[in-house]
Amino acid sequence: MDQVITETKTNAAPSITPDQLDMLVEEADRAKMKAYAPYSKFRVGAALLAEDGTIYSGANVENSSYGLTVCAERSTIFHAVSNGVRAFQAIVVTTDISESFVYPCGACRQVMSEFGNFDVYCLRPNGKVSRTTLADLIPFAFSPSDLSKGQGKGEEDEPVKKPRKTDHLRTRTARGCMKKGAHVFDIRNPRLRMYCRNR
Ligand SMILES: [Zn+2]
Repeated sequence: MDQVITETKTNAAPSITPDQLDMLVEEADRAKMKAYAPYSKFRVGAALLAEDGTIYSGANVENSSYGLTVCAERSTIFHAVSNGVRAFQAIVVTTDISESFVYPCGACRQVMSEFGNFDVYCLRPNGKVSRTTLADLIPFAFSPSDLSKGQGKGEEDEPVKKPRKTDHLRTRTARGCMKKGAHVFDIRNPRLRMYCRNR
């Protein structure tokens, strides 16, 4: 099915041809079929066109520990980067939602922006496509250059204080002391004996 761009959310010119878009849509749809989304039932597939013409794809992979779930966009970027590719032309993201376009989450926008600015196409199963760019999706992304600006400006962490050699002796003085709240355990003592803070 030929894709029709029904919505454009950027002033930038498209970086890929209609034929390239068709290929990416096909790959993204194929990847969506492999989504592992038993909890949300929200399947997402993505296909990424590298500068060298290679296409990488990925799907969302959920986990019973929900926070460990990885979105399709990040799966795809990691797939490409793991293959030594870091320059991209466009990504297509597809879901099962026909009613509206679904755009990448904030985490994926940040991760993708690490590798520059490229076109982002969001696809609905009815063939409708929305086109935008990463720069439009995340205009003030944190970037590698921001990180280098901050280097060397932070305070150094306080060094961890070595325990004093005499600390273990305090276990003796706690005996017989009735003062409430003044006692702590000496964790370096294998029998976890209590000592008094006030002495
Ligand atoms: Zn995401």
